[in-house]
Amino acid sequence: MEFEALLGARCPVCGGGLYAPGICRSCRKRLRAKRWQNLVYLGGYRRWRGAVRALKFKGGRRLVAPLADALAEGVRASGWNVEAVTAVPTTWWRALLRGYNPAELLARRIAERLELPFVRLLARRYTPSQTRRRRDERARMKAGTFFLLREPEHRRWLLVDDVWTTGATFRAVERVLRAAGAEAVYGAVIAAREERD
Ligand SMILES: [Zn+2]
Repeated sequence: MEFEALLGARCPVCGGGLYAPGICRSCRKRLRAKRWQNLVYLGGYRRWRGAVRALKFKGGRRLVAPLADALAEGVRASGWNVEAVTAVPTTWWRALLRGYNPAELLARRIAERLELPFVRLLARRYTPSQTRRRRDERARMKAGTFFLLREPEHRRWLLVDDVWTTGATFRAVERVLRAAGAEAVYGAVIAAREERD
């Protein structure tokens, strides 16, 4: 199923058949952002991991629009009054291998839907792969992992990523933005690791 999902023959969310590449009609109809504190997300990791994985491959670009549009709707409904959108950066070599950063594709589309500027604000230093580390280690992200590429001109930010795991990434970026004068940082992700459905 996984292999077919990556090729687009099957819906990466439910595994059902597809008439056209992307996600199936019934999953598309059920797309609705949920909200938890300062975060909007589409659902739990268990249901959404197929879509998150598919996004990391070239064919996954087709998933960007429907997922981002549902998240943009959730942000609009939240009343957060964000002023600008940015994405959690990947390392430059990972982006080079893949050709793009999925979080940035989502962020650009969300910004477009909300008629807000997208700003490439942050960069990421290399740290050993997170998946090899234990959860409690991941929860403490090293200071200095993220740094600013420019001074932020806006005060209320939406930070976009594909997955929320421990929240360590979000907190690390939030610290950097607040230190540079941001007054609020909100998050939008596809999948939250802890089931909150
Ligand atoms: Zn489906």
